Amino acid sequence: MLTVLYSGESDLWPVYEPALAAALREAGIAARLVLPGEATPESVDYIVFAPSGPVADFTPYRQAKAVLSLWAGVERVVGNPTLTQPLCRMVDEGLERGMVEWVAGQVLRHHLGLDRHITAQDGVWRNDQVPPLAPEHGVTVLGLGVLGRACATALATLGFRVTGWSRSPKDVPGIACLHGADGLNEALRRAEILVSILPDTPETNGLLNAETLALLPPGAVVLNPGRGTLIDDAALLSALDAGQVGHATLDVFRTEPLPPDHPYWAHPHVTVTPHIAAATRPGSASAVIAENIRRGEAGEPFLHRVDRDRGY
Ligand code: NDP
Repeated sequence: MLTVLYSGESDLWPVYEPALAAALREAGIAARLVLPGEATPESVDYIVFAPSGPVADFTPYRQAKAVLSLWAGVERVVGNPTLTQPLCRMVDEGLERGMVEWVAGQVLRHHLGLDRHITAQDGVWRNDQVPPLAPEHGVTVLGLGVLGRACATALATLGFRVTGWSRSPKDVPGIACLHGADGLNEALRRAEILVSILPDTPETNGLLNAETLALLPPGAVVLNPGRGTLIDDAALLSALDAGQVGHATLDVFRTEPLPPDHPYWAHPHVTVTPHIAAATRPGSASAVIAENIRRGEAGEPFLHRVDRDRGY
């Protein structure tokens, strides 16, 4: 019988306990699910992990075969010097669908100029403009991983001219793929709407700064459901004030929750959403966790293993 430690958010334990138990049963794995304190650390075989959970020091978990993150972003654990076990991140159907819906919704909002109608319910019948069609707008997606690729593909299916950018070369049907430092400038020049779905790493920190924002077409829209660290906030606010960026819809921030006095809240051209672009769903996520435990026991490679050197 395996011992699987849940070190996620304590208020989600009532949801995760039955979901994980069902998924483990389904995968044919005999395991007892425990909270910290309910088993000795040395007896733990796998750790189901979120940075907001209680375990921060992995040293006592000497026998643990893997740390299985419930979050897609692993920036808060990947550099933990006590972590010697394999680390796997969450790739989950719920996360992917959620991100596609948030991104498509925000892109369509700005592409169609819907705010004009939502904020101007003043009795004036303004039908003087023919709405644009998707092929008229260029959208660039920074990050062509699991989430970026799904979003880019959905946007291309809607008819947008989509450019994608990643670290390594990619070939994604329907997407003009660019990569590396050389590809970034061109990717930004094409971005009437820019979507950043990059992980937080030392290389991506501050990637959207005064210099790179200046490469966007004037009045471009910036959507950031990746991580708050991707953006130099002062540079974005300056670009918004100057009209270089027409609107920013931001889901993630350097400090979360975003402090009430942060200028983003009051800025007329910023929309704040509270880190809700995509959420891990316990049902589908538990199936991913159980599959990785099955793989660990069968001696098969883990799914979605994090490259500790790359940081994602
Ligand atoms: P993946 O690891 O699958 O993909 C990451 C992508 O970013 C890859 O295409 C990678 O390139 C690219 N990348 C990384 N570093 C660089 C770099 N220095 N230069 C260029 N490209 C780079 O991640 P996911 O798609 O699953 O998730 C992306 C991020 O989304 C997560 O890390 C998390 O921060 C965020 N997220 C936000 C949520 C929200 O609710 N707001 C919910 C879930 C995730 P390559 O393919 O070449 O390696």
